[in-house]
Amino acid sequence: MLTDYHLHLRPDERDASTAEYHSQANAQRYRERAQQRGIAELGVSEHIYRFTQALEIWRHPFWERFAADDLDEYCRFVREETDLRLGIEADFVPGAEDRTANLLEARDFDYVVGSVHFLRDGAVDMDDYSVWDSGRSAEEIWRRYFQTVGESARSGLFDILAHPDLVKYWSPARRPEGDLRRFYELAMDGIAESGIAVEVSTAGLRKDVNEIYPAPAFLAMALEAGAPVALSSDAHRPQDVGADYARALELLEDLGVGELCVFEGRARRLEPIGASSPDGEQATSAGGEGGR
Ligand SMILES: [Zn+2]
Ligand SMILES: [Zn+2]
Repeated sequence: MLTDYHLHLRPDERDASTAEYHSQANAQRYRERAQQRGIAELGVSEHIYRFTQALEIWRHPFWERFAADDLDEYCRFVREETDLRLGIEADFVPGAEDRTANLLEARDFDYVVGSVHFLRDGAVDMDDYSVWDSGRSAEEIWRRYFQTVGESARSGLFDILAHPDLVKYWSPARRPEGDLRRFYELAMDGIAESGIAVEVSTAGLRKDVNEIYPAPAFLAMALEAGAPVALSSDAHRPQDVGADYARALELLEDLGVGELCVFEGRARRLEPIGASSPDGEQATSAGGEGGR
């Protein structure tokens, strides 16, 4: 099986309305592209901060600017009008763990993708509210970032650790010198203790950094810590569903990963990697599209 769980049905622009993008026709465009690429298992995980209920968790000005939609209407739409799994991409907000848990547990998600986009109030991957304007060194920001990733895993709030080395977004600028495993190490105890799935995301290949998230060395350490893998594209438009999966599958094969996480009702099982044929049949050989 192949999966794509970290999907957004709409672009990140504030005026991208649910009326236009949360429609059966749009969901069908994602499903069709997935089918062409041999991906049988699809789920949607819109950003939590697009929903008014997220302001119960955090009132960052960025969240206040974007919180416009109703979370329960989103859940109803995905469940009743699409055949996609129901997920959400939720930020880890230290100190707001209880409020985050309350919001998540009140809905019947299939999985929750946990992200670290902010260190305190500073954004890791945006020009607005950027943590990089704080005067701190890349060394210090990377350290704080991976510590926070470890805490997010340990919080137990999430099923999937999204884009685990997002802090490299601005690379090669803002990337510390030397062996980066000294940073990755800071996240590994949390990953090992929580049993969280680690996302392999092709989104980084569509950014200036032009690398898969996470780096092979991070993934190797996470596998050593016992983490299973969740595979996603973080697409924000239909044509990016399953984008560059050949490269992700090559990385997984190189590291000896033969199974992917499949989620339903926040329970997880592992399925052998393999593309399905366009008519929906599962292929028998592992590797699938892009396999060698
Ligand atoms: Zn994200
Ligand atoms: Zn995302």
